[in-house]
Amino acid sequence: AKETGRNNYQFYTPAMNERALERLRLEGDLRLALEHDQFELHYQPQVDLRTGRVTGMEALVRWQHPTFGMVAPARFIGLAEETGLIVPIGAWVICAACIQAKAWQDAGLGELRVAVNLSARQFVQKDLAASIASALQQCGLAPHCLEIELTESLIMDDVEHAIGAMRELAALGVHLSVDDFGTGYSSLSYLKRLPIHALKIDQSFVRDIGSDPDDAAIVATIISLAHSLRLQVIAEGVETAEQLEFLRSHGCDAMQGYYFSKPVPAGEFETVVGNNIQI
Ligand code: C2E
Ligand code: CA
Ligand code: CA
Ligand code: CA
Repeated sequence: AKETGRNNYQFYTPAMNERALERLRLEGDLRLALEHDQFELHYQPQVDLRTGRVTGMEALVRWQHPTFGMVAPARFIGLAEETGLIVPIGAWVICAACIQAKAWQDAGLGELRVAVNLSARQFVQKDLAASIASALQQCGLAPHCLEIELTESLIMDDVEHAIGAMRELAALGVHLSVDDFGTGYSSLSYLKRLPIHALKIDQSFVRDIGSDPDDAAIVATIISLAHSLRLQVIAEGVETAEQLEFLRSHGCDAMQGYYFSKPVPAGEFETVVGNNIQI
């Protein structure tokens, strides 16, 4: 038993032991993963719902573990956050995404915007804006071709810090969007103070658009809220033609989801970009 405080004893069971060991093993491996070049980015295209064409993509990190194979972010981002490893991993993600976006522009794929996810730990780094500026400069990507996604809950966690940090990022010319919108508790009065370009409707609302009138109402409301604040709105997790039609007819600007494409390795992205949705 381990003493956790006065009169508080926590007893370990074999199952807890196993979990603790797996965690330790994963943590050790995670520390080496950057050095060993085990991360890669997959890209999920984002499609403009007026033209049916791909206008950008979200970069999503994957960990190619030597024995476990491909590890999804849900299994290691939390650990990376807790250990602080998310800071160097996140910096790698930004650089790699910018380099790729520039390479695709140079290859003639057009001015695609790449979106990256930012974690809480990265967001409080004092040199965040400076390091993003230098990443952009090093690879020669125009700032407006990079989009930073911040979750609604991350922003609302410390809204005063968020506004300051976001203004610094916006001043670089990068685009900012609110990820998982609708799942946090935004005070609408803050929304107008944030220097953002877009809201991303969380996939939990999109999933049941066709069967749950409440979700349909929420999605329609977010779209009109975004537009009345002169923001773009993009829906995530679009899997069916019915969902797509609902979004299109309600004036949603863009979509991302398996209906068009799953996140794909960079090598497959070029073929996906050539496709488009018949609107
Ligand atoms: P997210 O930012 O909300 O990303 C969207 C997730 O939904 C991705 O999962 C994507 O593969 C998945 N998705 C896309 N379209 C569909 C669809 O039509 N249906 C369904 N069911 N799912 C869809 P993924 O790649 O496993 O990433 C999970 C989460 O991990 C992300 O959620 C994000 O919070 C985090 N993450 C991923 N990459 C990074 C990163 O580079 N940095 C940080 N800090 N977090 C990351
Ligand atoms: Ca995201
Ligand atoms: Ca999301
Ligand atoms: Ca999410």
